Amino acid sequence: MRVKCISCDSSELTFHRKVENIEIYECRKCELAYTKKEKITKDSQNRQNELYSLKSYLPRSKTQKDKFEKLAYILNTKLKCGKILEVGSGFGLFSSILTNNPNYEVEALEPELPQHFLNKRSNVVIHKLDYRSFLKMCVKKYDCIIFVDVLEHFDNPHEILSRTKEIMNTNALIVIQLPNYKSLMARLCTNWSWWMVQDHKVHFSKKSIIQLLKQCGFSIIHTQTYESLYDFKKNLDGNFRFITNSVIRKVIKFSFYLIFLPLYLLFRKIGWFFGFGGLIFVIAKKNKEIRISCLH
Ligand SMILES: [Zn+2]
Repeated sequence: MRVKCISCDSSELTFHRKVENIEIYECRKCELAYTKKEKITKDSQNRQNELYSLKSYLPRSKTQKDKFEKLAYILNTKLKCGKILEVGSGFGLFSSILTNNPNYEVEALEPELPQHFLNKRSNVVIHKLDYRSFLKMCVKKYDCIIFVDVLEHFDNPHEILSRTKEIMNTNALIVIQLPNYKSLMARLCTNWSWWMVQDHKVHFSKKSIIQLLKQCGFSIIHTQTYESLYDFKKNLDGNFRFITNSVIRKVIKFSFYLIFLPLYLLFRKIGWFFGFGGLIFVIAKKNKEIRISCLH
């Protein structure tokens, strides 16, 4: 277990909660939380592996596509052209959407999963290796580097962001999406599915990712938190699983949603504005490096 916060170096990490019997600790100052990794069971690892199968991803790909298209639209307004690298491209869905912009040269890095959505796109360079190895051998510079649902998988995102800067052109953009452990979803849903303690080593809030990016030499140019109604409802459904009688469960669920859903739909944008959305989406620009030279 890490003993110090990667952002502020504080060793005062306090117990936050248990998820699937795995403890999560948090630095209250930075709002960064850390998964204690020692107790991962085979059972929960198997459940996690299932999530990464193409078979279980395909039924979800339609809602993912809708989300990604909106994110790509925002990116298009910030970046007109250039070389883009998507780190941890999964099955290649987001990269495939980015190729719709003819001014983007897209590369995808994914060590494990097949690039299902990029199969017919021969113009995308695919790197099949882990990111740390890639960083060691990379001699190129990019105009945009993307981490969609990826940065929380690294032990030390601070180090990853600092090293990523080295393969970025001046004024290049970094695009990050992360689950928000301070979201309304995470607070209300007893089994919030994005804790994913087998894989997520660090957990972020809007405040903590902004702070970390600034520390690593980036200026924030866009932030938002959001979630889809589908994701929120699917997570909330889990709260009713403990009711074993199916009729009673349906009646209670129906009554709850009858009150909750109109209120949620009415006020969710206000909640998102204040950083309570389930996902955080950030675009930041690499700061200009100030070279200190000796004047004689
Ligand atoms: Zn801290």
